[in-house]
Amino acid sequence: MRIVVIGGGVGCARFVRGVREHVRRSGSSDAIDVVVNTGDDWWVSGLRISPDHDSLLYALAGVNDAERGWGRADETERVSSELAAWGTAPDWFALGDLDLGTHIARTAWLRDGVSLSEVYRRLGARWPLGATLHPATDQEIDTIVETSEGSLHFQEWWVRHRAALPARGFAQRRIAEARPSEGALRVLSEADVILLAPSNPVVSIGPVLAVPGMREALGRAAAPVVGVSGVIDGGVVRGMADACLAAIGVETSARAVAEHYGSRDAGGVLDGWLVDEADRDAVAPLAARGIAARAVPLWLRDADSSAQVAHDALALARDIGERR
Ligand code: GDP
Ligand code: CA
Repeated sequence: MRIVVIGGGVGCARFVRGVREHVRRSGSSDAIDVVVNTGDDWWVSGLRISPDHDSLLYALAGVNDAERGWGRADETERVSSELAAWGTAPDWFALGDLDLGTHIARTAWLRDGVSLSEVYRRLGARWPLGATLHPATDQEIDTIVETSEGSLHFQEWWVRHRAALPARGFAQRRIAEARPSEGALRVLSEADVILLAPSNPVVSIGPVLAVPGMREALGRAAAPVVGVSGVIDGGVVRGMADACLAAIGVETSARAVAEHYGSRDAGGVLDGWLVDEADRDAVAPLAARGIAARAVPLWLRDADSSAQVAHDALALARDIGERR
C-alpha cells in the first residue's frame, strides 16, 4: 500500500512516526511518502532554512531534541553567538551548530542550481527514515503575515512576536508562479490512501493547498483523503495554531477545521476526518456535510498511541474506499 501524508512540522512528525510504527508492527511493506509544507521556509544570514522539513527529517532520523520540541539533540550554539556578534542574525532566532550544518548544505546545493526536491532527497539519504519527503513545491512561497504593524515574514511573526501581534491574514509570496513538485504530484496520483496530518491548518497545511494545482491533484486522486484533527476539545494540543485560525475567522474546534477544509464532494479536500473522543458531537453534523467523521483518542503521546491513531486513520480510509 502507498500511504501519503500531507503536513509539515512537529505535529506532522509525531503523526508520521506513528504511521511508520503502525506499518512496522503490521509487518507490511507499505511505502510512506510525505508532501511537506514549504511556507515556513526563509532566508536568514544568507542561508535557506526549512523548519517543517527539518523537523520531519530530524524526528524520523531520531536525532531531534525531543525535550525542546525542535532542532537537533546535543546541540550547541557557538556559531550563532558569533553571528550575533557580527550582527548578521536576528537575536530571536536560535540557530544550533549541527542545525547550521544542514542549512549550509541545503544552501550550497540550492546555489549550485539543484532543485529543492533533490535537496530533500540528498538530506534524506543520510539516515534510514522509513519515509520519503517531497516538498509541496520547488518554488519559494514564504508565508507573509498581515498585521496592524505591516507585513512580516511568518517566522518573524511566529518566533519573534510569539503570534501575539493580531494577524489579519496570511499569504504566500509569489504563490501564483508556484506549481506542485513532480514528486508530490506523482505520489498523490499513485496513493492508496492520503492522510492530512494534525498540522497547523492555516500555516502548515494552508500553504500546501495554496500551491496552484494542488487542490486539483487532491480532487482527482483515486485514494480516499482522511484528515486528523490537531484541535482537541476546543484547544490546540501544542503551539499557537489558535491565533492562526482566529485570524482567518475559523473557530478553534475540530468541527470548524473540518468544515474549513471542506468535503471533497463539494470542492474541498476531505472524505474523512478523525476527531478526538472529546469531540464526538462533531461526528453527526460533519456526516451531514459529506465528511465521514469518527471519534477516537487523538493524543500522540508515545509509540503505542501514535501507531493507534495511524491505524484508526487508515481504517477510516479503508471503510470510505469500500463504500465508494
Ligand atoms: P509546527 O509546524 O512545528 O508547528 O507543526 P505542525 O504544524 O505539524 O503541527 C502543529 C499542530 O500539531 C498543533 O497545532 C497541534 O494541534 C497538533 N498536535 C501536536 N501534538 C498533537 C497530538 O498529540 N495530537 C493531535 N491530534 N494533534 C497534535
Ligand atoms: Ca509548520
